[in-house]
Order: sequence, then C-alpha cells, then structure tokens
Amino acid sequence: MSGILIDGKKVSSDINAASAASVERMHNEYGKVPGLAVIVVGDDPASHVYVNRKEAMCRELGLHSEKYELPAETTMQELLALIDRLNRDDRIHGILVQSPPPPHIDEEKVVAAIVPEKDVDCFHPVNVGKMLLGRRDGFYPCTPYGVMLLLDAYGIDPAGKHAVVIGRSNIVGKPLTAMLLQKEKGANATVTCVHSGTVDLAKYTRDADILIAAIGKPEFVTGDMVKPGAVVIDVGINRIADSTRKSGSRLVGDVKFQEVVEKASYITPVPGGVGPMTIAVLMQNTIKGAERAFKAAVGK
Ligand code: NDP
Repeated sequence: MSGILIDGKKVSSDINAASAASVERMHNEYGKVPGLAVIVVGDDPASHVYVNRKEAMCRELGLHSEKYELPAETTMQELLALIDRLNRDDRIHGILVQSPPPPHIDEEKVVAAIVPEKDVDCFHPVNVGKMLLGRRDGFYPCTPYGVMLLLDAYGIDPAGKHAVVIGRSNIVGKPLTAMLLQKEKGANATVTCVHSGTVDLAKYTRDADILIAAIGKPEFVTGDMVKPGAVVIDVGINRIADSTRKSGSRLVGDVKFQEVVEKASYITPVPGGVGPMTIAVLMQNTIKGAERAFKAAVGK
C-alpha cells in the first residue's frame, strides 16, 4: 500500500484564492484593505526569508503590508514603542514579531504587548484562552489550524478517531491537541499528546488513526511506529546535510517518508505539506481581523 499525498500547495492555493477575493470584496465594500505588519529583529537569515515570504504573499493577495527590519541591538523599549504605534494604526490589522528574536528580547512581553485584536499568530494569552474554550471570536493559530484545514480538505474527519500529537510546544503541539479535542464538527477526536517525557512513545503512535509529528527531529517517526492505514501529518521542517545536492543540504520532516508512505492511508510531504498552510492561515487571520475592525467602524 502507498499512502495518498496530501497536497498542501494545492489546498493553500485554493485558500489564498478565496482570501484574494475577500480582499477585493472588502475594498469594494469598505474602501479599505486589510494590513499586516511584520517585524524582524536581528539578522537571522531564516527569519528574513520567512518575513519576506509573508510580505510577498500580502502583495500577491492585495493586502497592505509593512515590514520592519530592526537591528539586533534594538531594545525592548524601542520594540514595544513600535508595537504600541502599530496597535493604534488603523491601516494595520495584524502584527507579527518573527521568532526567534535575539536573547535580550523577552518574547512573552512582546506577545502580551500586541492587542489581542491584532494578534494574528494567536500567541496572546487571550486568544490562546479563546481557542482552548472553542470560541470563534479570537484567532486560530496558523500552523495547527493549517493542519485542521488539510484534514478537512481531504475529507478526513477526526471525530471518534484516536489522534496522537507528538510534541507539546505552545506554537504547534499544545494548540493542535486542544483543537482536535473540541466538541465540534471537524474535531471531536480522542487525543493523546506525547513528548520527551513519554515512556514507550511508540506504544501510543502505533495506536494512532491520525498521527501528527511536530518535534523538530529529522525522520524521527519510522515505519514500525505507524499503524497500517493511519493518516500521517508531518509538521517538521529540518535541514539535513546531503552531498548529492548542489546546496549540500535538503529539507526533511519529522517522519521517515519513504518508510511511512508504505503504511499510511494519507501522508503530507515535506516540503509541500503543512508548510504552505501556515502563511495561508496567517493571511486569513489578518483578513478576519480587518473585517471585524471595518464592521465595527461602520457600526455593523
Ligand atoms: P519545539 O522545539 O518548540 O517543540 C518540540 C516538541 O517536541 C517539544 O514538546 C519536545 O518535548 C518534543 N520532542 C522533542 N524531541 C522529542 C523526542 N525525542 N521524543 C518526544 N518528543 C520530543 O518545536 P516546534 O513545535 O516549534 O516545531 C516542531 C517542528 O515543526 C520543527 O521541525 C519546526 O521547524 C516545525 N514547524 C513547522 C511549521 C510549519 O509552518 N510547517 C511551523 C512551526 C514549526 P518537550 O516539551 O518535552 O521538550
């Protein structure tokens, strides 16, 4: 058996097309477009690649975008002052500070400084709380919600299934565990979250109908850890050395694809699986935030 590939490029491109149509509609209806501000502090090359991609996607979909590339020596006070200004700027509906910032920047304080209405990453405690409660008036976190949308796009209903999430980070594992657990359509799974403290991790993964790997360890999930017919979602993005490539390296996920594809019913590739969904949801969230602001401004 060879699993069906879940094509994140195709699903995200459909979502992006719908987003572009929403932006055009909002422009016609309110005479304004959604705006996203991305801030990057320091010169981590990967962070600059990510913010450039986000800026390019804004342009492609018709959103207003502002990019702030701040030097590594930027103080907390300067960063908080910029966030404060953007919080009050009515052309901006989403504010994002690219992770990881330099060590002297306190990420928790930065996240808390962004008003929840513009926290399109869903990192602010208010939005995390709303997500946990199953409320729709906040935002859903980009990568976990991207995973939920991929399942939905392929008609994979988590209801009644055993979903096992490997990893418990605040960005991916924990929110995904909470989202799969919600008593609502498209969720309602029985969820197990395993992590570095789990004893005999494979005992749980072998029982998973839906297995989601988000640990940041190249090809950690091997064929013998997967139940035949399982749906396997690989969130991991890891760069490993590969002397056969011109660049000397290549990207792999947290799942050993060649082995697991033989057992899975559905599987995401890396790249081209979960990756493109993250930006697509970020754009959706910015549009959602803008629509709320535009409606409030006209008293709807
Ligand atoms: P973190 O490093 O923040 O968290 C990793 C989690 O995996 C932790 O909970 C850790 O456990 C657990 N873990 C690590 N090693 C093991 C192990 N050997 N056995 C069991 N559990 C383990 O990573 P992120 O959640 O931020 O990211 C995970 C992966 O997803 C990375 O490859 C990252 O690049 C990728 N990613 C991809 C995105 C996308 O857009 N596709 C977006 C975000 C991340 P513990 O808590 O005990 O330390």
